[in-house]
Amino acid sequence: MLKPDATILGAGLMGRLLACALAQRGHRVEVIDAGGPEAAHAAARVAAAMLAPLAESAVTELNVVRMGQHALARWPQLLATLERPVFFQQLGTLVLWHRQDAAEAERFAGQLARTSAALPSLPQAQRMNGEALTALEPSLAGRFAQGLYLPDEGQLDNRELLAALAHQMQVLGVTVRWHTARNPDELDPGPDAWLFDCRGLGGQPQWGALRGVRGEVARVLAPGVNLSRPTRLVHPRYPLYIAPKPEGVFVIGATEIESDDLSPASVRSTLELLSAAYTVHPGFGEARIIEMGVQLRPTLPDNLPALRLSAPRRMAINGLYRHGFLIAPAVLDAALELVEQGHSPLAETLGLAVIR
Ligand SMILES: Cc1cc2nc3c(=O)[nH]c(=O)nc-3n(C[C@H](O)[C@H](O)[C@H](O)COP(=O)(O)OP(=O)(O)OC[C@H]3O[C@@H](n4cnc5c(N)ncnc54)[C@H](O)[C@@H]3O)c2cc1C
Repeated sequence: MLKPDATILGAGLMGRLLACALAQRGHRVEVIDAGGPEAAHAAARVAAAMLAPLAESAVTELNVVRMGQHALARWPQLLATLERPVFFQQLGTLVLWHRQDAAEAERFAGQLARTSAALPSLPQAQRMNGEALTALEPSLAGRFAQGLYLPDEGQLDNRELLAALAHQMQVLGVTVRWHTARNPDELDPGPDAWLFDCRGLGGQPQWGALRGVRGEVARVLAPGVNLSRPTRLVHPRYPLYIAPKPEGVFVIGATEIESDDLSPASVRSTLELLSAAYTVHPGFGEARIIEMGVQLRPTLPDNLPALRLSAPRRMAINGLYRHGFLIAPAVLDAALELVEQGHSPLAETLGLAVIR
């Protein structure tokens, strides 16, 4: 059998996307992951997978927002290359707040307005009164007097995506070694072959500046709740969201804690997340808790992603932090340009760091 000409360490979000893209381009790809196809060790398994560039602009930089804009257009194209369907929607984001958080909401709205002024191509936030909110989400009738609607923002089902990508790797003949933890130093793919390090926080030994940012999320089954789009609740401690997934499942998240601690979700976080969801819709009172998930977001000191070329054909892709799904297609396209052209005009346009 011919040796692979591209080895990818880590088959979370980035590794799987890259494996499929390279295999589609005719590369002989090998993937090595510490976990199995269900991605139990990946941040990607726990994520809410919201694709919300404007909403995220309240907590991130304009270049991430630009990457998100690029990615929102690219996701449907990428999903169309997969044999298995993946839930994807672009019905916008709803932002709500309780009366006591009105000052925080004004600050949030001000940040979005500054983003819109800087990036006029991004659809602007629309102020909504109670009537308009009811028209958008009838099950919230009478519960909120004001809100913001962020058109065109999206989300996808992370677990369907990970499964569809694993299946696609098989279809494309990618060699996969599951349950195999490796460092790049332990591999010798040869000087003509590419070696990609997409291990997320697992890449810390080689990228010492990486840190974990702990996130806790609840997955609940709430067939009695009819919310059709991701809904954010302005919250004084962290951006809180409820993301509806197929078949009555909702992802409620997420805490944001500077810690590498992967122990189970705390009582405080669980109470805060679930009670906040209950204040948005009382139907969550009868929801069933399917899972309290915990994972660490792989994060660089500036909270921004980076592509690092440490030697010829040796690339590490990391620092996707809380925006992996939002920006992955942009990071992927830049990585492919670096492989094919040796430089990335897209990375320059989007302000994505390429470290040599
Ligand atoms: C609670 C939470 C909520 C989130 N919500 C969102 C959201 O709504 N929108 C959004 O855009 N992003 C979100 N994210 C962020 C997103 O999940 C991450 O940015 C993304 O998963 C990072 O992708 P990655 O491929 O770099 O790393 P990961 O997805 O973590 O994958 C890394 C892979 O490397 C493997 N690995 C590690 N060490 C080794 C080793 N030594 N050898 C082999 N394999 C190894 C792991 O098994 C894993 O499969 C969220 C994250 C969390 C934790």
